[in-house]
Amino acid sequence: HDTVDIPLALAWVREIAAAVEQQEGRLTELDSAIGDGDHGSNLRRGFTAVLAALDDLTPASVGAVLTRTGTTLISKVGGASGPLYGSAFRAMGAALPGERADRAEFAAALAAGLAAIRKLGAAEPGDKTVVDAWTPALAAFGQPDATLAAAASAAAEAAAQGVRDTVPLQARKGRASYLGPRSIGHPDPGAASTELLFQALARVTAA
Ligand code: ADP
Ligand code: MG
Ligand code: MG
Repeated sequence: HDTVDIPLALAWVREIAAAVEQQEGRLTELDSAIGDGDHGSNLRRGFTAVLAALDDLTPASVGAVLTRTGTTLISKVGGASGPLYGSAFRAMGAALPGERADRAEFAAALAAGLAAIRKLGAAEPGDKTVVDAWTPALAAFGQPDATLAAAASAAAEAAAQGVRDTVPLQARKGRASYLGPRSIGHPDPGAASTELLFQALARVTAA
């Protein structure tokens, strides 16, 4: 795929939902170590509702798919991750009003997604949050001259490294921050689910 069109956007979100379902247990384990153990179930509940919402949608733009995804996550997920991911998808949706987006347009939309997360959650890189996976993923995705699939694959690898890099960090935002130094030595659950987002993008753009 050279561009993200409406079917690809749908495929991306459905691929995320499948990954979340498959990895629910792992995400919950990660959140049990430094949070309240609900990250997997939060995202699973959210993306199950997203799948149903997309079945009822006849999207006229790439953005319509992502906006509906975001709105659904915000309404269905009580934890911090619902509003954060929900705002990100809504911001990406708002940035993609057309029937397709090229790599640069999609990069700009991803950047709008991260900006929305940072505006809502006020996390800086290094605070041990989703921002620590999104930030390196976007840097990798934005490399000029890459195809869409190569950019997405590089972003997924960078997100994975971002997750590993959260291990030695002390959390400064979200529930894990209540643990103080005891949050050190564990990967951030939200960073891990962000890796799933970019892995899903890599798979559907390569297909
Ligand atoms: P909750 O913490 O409300 O139970 P989840 O378990 O679903 O919600 O999500 C936890 C994840 O949310 C954390 O691992 C972290 O990545 C992310 N997170 C929490 N607070 C913030 C924030 N202020 N900014 C960015 N990400 C955050
Ligand atoms: Mg939690
Ligand atoms: Mg919770």
